[in-house]
Order: sequence, then C-alpha cells, then structure tokens
Amino acid sequence: LVRSYEQLKFKEEQPGKASIEKEKEIPLESKVALITGGASGIGEAAARLFLEHGARVVIADVQDDLAHQLVASLTDYSGNICYHRCDVRDEKQVEDAVSHTVTKYGSLDILFSNAGIMGPMTALLDMDLDAFDNTMAVNVRGVAATIKHAARAMVAKKTPGSIICTASVAASIGGAGPHAYTTSKHAMIGLMRTACKELGAYGIRVNCISPFGVGTPLSCAAYNVEASQVEANCSAIGNLKGVVLKANHVAEAALFLASDESVYVSGQNLGVDGGFTVVSGSYS
Ligand code: NAD
Repeated sequence: LVRSYEQLKFKEEQPGKASIEKEKEIPLESKVALITGGASGIGEAAARLFLEHGARVVIADVQDDLAHQLVASLTDYSGNICYHRCDVRDEKQVEDAVSHTVTKYGSLDILFSNAGIMGPMTALLDMDLDAFDNTMAVNVRGVAATIKHAARAMVAKKTPGSIICTASVAASIGGAGPHAYTTSKHAMIGLMRTACKELGAYGIRVNCISPFGVGTPLSCAAYNVEASQVEANCSAIGNLKGVVLKANHVAEAALFLASDESVYVSGQNLGVDGGFTVVSGSYS
C-alpha cells in the first residue's frame, strides 16, 4: 500500500511522465491469481483476461477434461497457466490448491473465488434440503474455505492481495434464482464484508461482483435453454436495453478489482447488471 501511494505521488509530481508510464503499465504484471471455477464461463473468461494482462494463473475446478483443454489451448501463455483439481467443498483440496499456487508461482496476489452452482429450480414447498445443503457447501462454505486459505498465504508473505467473489443479482433481490442459490449469494455478501473488516489490517481487499444473466453452462442448465436463449431472456427483462451481458464483461470487472487501479476499493458488491438490481424490486 505504501509503495502504491508513493507511485501515485510520483506520478502526480511528474504529470507528463505519468501519462507515458500509464500507457506502458501492465495491470497484473508479476501478479499470481487463483481462479476457482476457472474451467468454464466467467472463470474461463477471467483466466484469459488476467493472462492477457500479465498475470500467472492457476485454475481450480472439478472438470478435469475441460480445464486441461483450456490450458492446452492457451499456447501463447504456456508456463503462465496451469490447472489444479480442487473441489471447493473440501477444505483440504482448497488448502492444497493455494499451496500449489504459491509453490509454482511464488506468491498468491489474487483470489477469484468464482466456483458456483445454481442447484434445482424447485418451488419452496417442494424444496430438497439435501440439494440446499450442497448449494450452500459450494457457494458459501467453498468461498469461505478459499478466502481462509488464500488470506493465510497472503498474510504469510505480506502480500496486499485482492480477493474477489462472484455473487449475483440474487445476492440483492429475492426471486432471481432458486431458494438455496439466493440464500447462498446473500450469505456471500456477509462473508465478504466480515472478511473485508478483518483482512483490511493486512492490506488485503475483499469485494464481490454481482452479474446479471450470462449464457454459461450454469444458467443454461438451470433454465434448460441454450446460451442464446439465456441472453434473449435476460435482454428482455434487463434494464440496459440492447446490450447483452457476456462472460468477458464480468471478467473486466474482476480485472479492475484484481488490479491496483482499485487500490482503495474494499467491502463492495459491484453489480455487473446494467442497473437491474437498483430498478427492480424482484422478478419472476
Ligand atoms: P459455469 O458453469 O460456466 O462455471 C462454473 C464453474 O464452477 C464450472 O467450471 C464448474 O465446474 C465449477 N464448479 C462447480 N462446482 C465446483 C466445486 N465444487 N469445486 C470447484 N469448482 C466447481 O457458470 P458461470 O455462470 O461462469 O458461474 C460462475 C459464477 O458466476 C458462479 O458463482 C455463479 O453463481 C455466478 N453467476 C453466474 C451468472 C450467470 O448468469 N451465468 C449470474 C450471476 C452469477
């Protein structure tokens, strides 16, 4: 933090030089990111974007084949990305993923805790409580475990890290997803806020991003439609008419929170929802 402040001060004192330096800056240069749920959808888009912006990336997921294919396809970045299998419901696997990241790349600067499931779309009166527990295990316990172990690694190395969790519009309003999903995403905001308070003492920032609907395997499976139909449906009910939200738009928000551009942003839930949650009470 002190170093960043000194850099800012230096730039203010030399405005001409600052603009030249700004052009040359690579936002995530020399930073190491762990992305859970990095094999698909928003996590995959973030992995690609973080690599393009100079990071070294470990993707943690449970879809081995998909993850290996992704890593193999990123030939321009070989050596800067790898896959580590990790089911976020299992704390030991999370601890191993963090430890693998630090061993392989020397530090952990960015945790993008993004793995999530939506679970079945059942009515409250028919709720399956085992499925409820599983959603909570991935979306809340899994995020708690990743924050705990990533923060331990950051504290141990005195890294002023950035932790970003993928919440949802369902974190702010009712009726935007299954009951367990909505509960889990609301809980994630509370977790993010308490983590923000405690980890601020170590210079670690914690934020959430909350996307609206993106056509990914998660949303396609939940609504039993193709990605194009998810986009069409969201476009129809969304606030920002004529703009379709894609995974890379969400990844751009994660990039901002991961980089030093957001050096004083912590404890926030950044909506990537075209204003949906501030103009809609709920939707059905
Ligand atoms: P996705 O299905 O493309 O990606 C989710 C990834 O998480 C998958 O690769 C999956 O294998 C992984 N995953 C699931 N369970 C896991 C576990 N136990 N351990 C490790 N990895 C696991 O879906 P997505 O839309 O990219 O979802 C990413 C995040 O975005 C989720 O947290 C989701 O709730 C959130 N989100 C998505 C939308 C949307 O419309 N797609 C909207 C709001 C929020």
